[in-house]
Amino acid sequence: MRFTDTPELASWRGVVRAFVAENWKPGGPHDELAMHGPNAAAYEEITDKTQNWLDKLAANSWIAPAWPKKYGGADMSVLEQFVLNQELHEAGAPTSRPMMNLVGPTVMLHGTDDQKAEHLPPLLRGEVRWCQGFSEPGSGSDLASLQTRAVRDGDDYVINGQKIWTSGAHRAQWMFMMARTDPSAPKHRGISYLLVPMTAPGITVRPLMNMADGHSFNEVFFEDVRVPVRNRIGEENRGWYVGATTLDFERSNISRAIHSRKSVAKLARFTRDRAAARHPVSAAHRMEIVDRAIETAVVEQLSFVIVSMQAAGGVPNKEASMCKMFGSELAQRIALTEMHVTGMSGQLRESSLVKSHGLNPTMAYLSVIPQTIAAGSSEIQRNIIATRGLGLPRG
Ligand SMILES: Cc1cc2nc3c(=O)[nH]c(=O)nc-3n(C[C@H](O)[C@H](O)[C@H](O)COP(=O)(O)OP(=O)(O)OC[C@H]3O[C@@H](n4cnc5c(N)ncnc54)[C@H](O)[C@@H]3O)c2cc1C
Repeated sequence: MRFTDTPELASWRGVVRAFVAENWKPGGPHDELAMHGPNAAAYEEITDKTQNWLDKLAANSWIAPAWPKKYGGADMSVLEQFVLNQELHEAGAPTSRPMMNLVGPTVMLHGTDDQKAEHLPPLLRGEVRWCQGFSEPGSGSDLASLQTRAVRDGDDYVINGQKIWTSGAHRAQWMFMMARTDPSAPKHRGISYLLVPMTAPGITVRPLMNMADGHSFNEVFFEDVRVPVRNRIGEENRGWYVGATTLDFERSNISRAIHSRKSVAKLARFTRDRAAARHPVSAAHRMEIVDRAIETAVVEQLSFVIVSMQAAGGVPNKEASMCKMFGSELAQRIALTEMHVTGMSGQLRESSLVKSHGLNPTMAYLSVIPQTIAAGSSEIQRNIIATRGLGLPRG
């Protein structure tokens, strides 16, 4: 394992860095939101600035760098992709549209030629937004128990049911979803994977505000929604296995590690400036910052472990769970430390001292809470590490 760039990767990093310096100007609403987490800006309205930037990425085939060239990607290796992601996240620049790394590979591997022709090019141009209709009020961690029904009627499916926590549904043109097509089959075997236009009659999207008063996810209701059978991906009742598709995207989660490092650096600068202004923070809080810095180094190393494994042809499993769990819990600890260190003044919306250091502790804290739930809760990640990683018996 080596953590320094090879000459080829160093030269590639130089190319990306020069591109970013020339084309991405920091500042504006995207940066404000990015303060709350690596993905906080993902579901906002796309500004001209962001769209222009995505157009430039698309022109280089960098929106889906790992996709095969024949589908419009850049055929990038895991390490090249990692370097690209690292540099974009270091600069705070958007990388692509949410969900494309989920729906794109699924269409590529299981879609018909018509489905590929319809859906892949707009994804690659960053033109279309998708949302993921998997979770339901009674089915999250145990997703295979989902109850939304799709009943065949001639050339259509008729869908009835409800999805929840659907990120970006209020801005999406399409949803990829799983619905139950055979209620009598064992739960993993009666599910089909469907592509649904969000404009289909019978779909209602209701906002769910998160605890930071932001609107990123929704409830989505289906009432006799008709979707052509040709919108099904893969075979009927095999949707569970279609949904499990991944390509060899790098899974290092480096964005989270970089975001944590930047947050700790801001906090350290704030603390130094406070000391210089004869307002030192307490010794206990200094120690807390040190702990966060060490933990940030750990999560960055976990990202490196994952990308190294992938580059060597391995498939990270417990490692990805460790990185997700530790990184999302760390984000909460960092936000808590920000609140401790900034104290009462950190709770003021317009505290100039805190703001001038790019800190917004209360918002940051409220915004990071969902990270330990989304994409597999900490308990589920711990279960994976216990069983697949340590061979422990199921609890
Ligand atoms: C910010 C955010 C964005 C999201 N975006 C989307 C989206 O776009 N599309 C989508 O489909 N879903 C989305 N989700 C939903 C997410 O996938 C689910 O919230 C998650 O899978 C947990 O499911 P649940 O909420 O039903 O909780 P439950 O599964 O009911 O879990 C409740 C609690 O029980 C624990 N638990 C459950 N099972 C076990 C077990 N076997 N062992 C130990 N503990 C267990 C959990 O860890 C949790 O603490 C999003 C969630 C969040 C927070």
